[in-house]
Amino acid sequence: KTKVGVVGLPNVGKSTLFNALSRQSIAAAENYPFCTIEPNTSPIAMPDDGRLERLAVMAGSRRAVSATLELVDVAGLVKGASRGEGLGNKFLATIRECDVILHVIRTYVDDDIVHVHGRVDPVGDADVVNLELLLADLAHVQRRLDRRTCNGIERDVLSKVEECLVEGRPARTLGLSLEEGQSIKSMGLLTLKPVIYAFNVDEVDLLLDREESLQRAKESMGRIQYCDPEKDSFVLVSAKLEADIGELSENETAKYFESLGSDGLPDNLLSHNSVPKLVKDMLGLSLVYTGPGVPASRSQTTKSHLLGQPAMRAHDFAGRLHGDIQSGFMQAEVIDSASLLEGEGYAGAKSAGRLRTEGREYTLQDGDVILIKWK
Ligand code: GDP
Repeated sequence: KTKVGVVGLPNVGKSTLFNALSRQSIAAAENYPFCTIEPNTSPIAMPDDGRLERLAVMAGSRRAVSATLELVDVAGLVKGASRGEGLGNKFLATIRECDVILHVIRTYVDDDIVHVHGRVDPVGDADVVNLELLLADLAHVQRRLDRRTCNGIERDVLSKVEECLVEGRPARTLGLSLEEGQSIKSMGLLTLKPVIYAFNVDEVDLLLDREESLQRAKESMGRIQYCDPEKDSFVLVSAKLEADIGELSENETAKYFESLGSDGLPDNLLSHNSVPKLVKDMLGLSLVYTGPGVPASRSQTTKSHLLGQPAMRAHDFAGRLHGDIQSGFMQAEVIDSASLLEGEGYAGAKSAGRLRTEGREYTLQDGDVILIKWK
């Protein structure tokens, strides 16, 4: 399961965003630092513009089961976390298990909400968090290098990583090879993980000054230190707006937007759409569809080119479904979901010869509908 760790300084809006994303009020959003003590997790569905729903209808299935990401709300980080301050150690251990970091940055101004450093400073905040992650990795790497059991490729790679960190660059900027990545994988280095910065903007800015907010975020991205300017990406969110409308009926939502002088927020800007899509792109995940039911009633994510992970093949996928399906694997029937949805249904596609028959070595492609034939 792909884990997305939500990090950021206290009071930037992590819990609020977490709640908006999970649509369940699991994490308590309160106006004081350290209110999030236990790491909370919640599944969030992988959006696909309604494709799964339509496939499930085609399959005559009443329940579509979507692939999910696991969102992890990590306890608030403060300056000094890498030395164990605040909830430092716990924070670091939780984040080590995540595949990608969603780094929430406060850009909203609200005098009623305390800022831990006394003023709203998106770039400064991001630097504090990034530096803690970097220092934590440096200490971790140096401890490992001090051991006599650290040899061969592991020692070579870690020496390279140490040098990189000392220069103030996160380990992911090294662009390690698959083999190099594997050799130090068990360490779960924090700065190897891809980062998405979520700029938590004021709801009015998001609704009415979207272009300007975007420009400001881009400009901030350019000034954040200890990041990977090539690969790190960002998204605009308004945690409060989403939390607010999550509580309202359709009618009330319309009124709410009207009161702000806006006609509403396009679906693709809602964080439960934008964040998982970005995660999918960054991690190189594919979303595929399968039974039970023909053509499909379930979507699943598969890794396509993750560091140290070969892309998923039909035979591995069968194994994910069930051991018996894998051992009895005969062939896979595959069709692209978009082309299937355009056409005349599964039976029609089959008789028109538009289904492909693939063997166990077939590499799954994003958007595939795949049905395994087994005995
Ligand atoms: P966390 O400590 O990072 O988890 O922050 P919370 O999500 O608990 O938010 C702290 C406080 O800031 C809460 O009272 C939220 O309602 C408020 N807050 C969060 N996001 C926004 C926002 O976009 N605008 C405003 N005005 N307040 C927000």
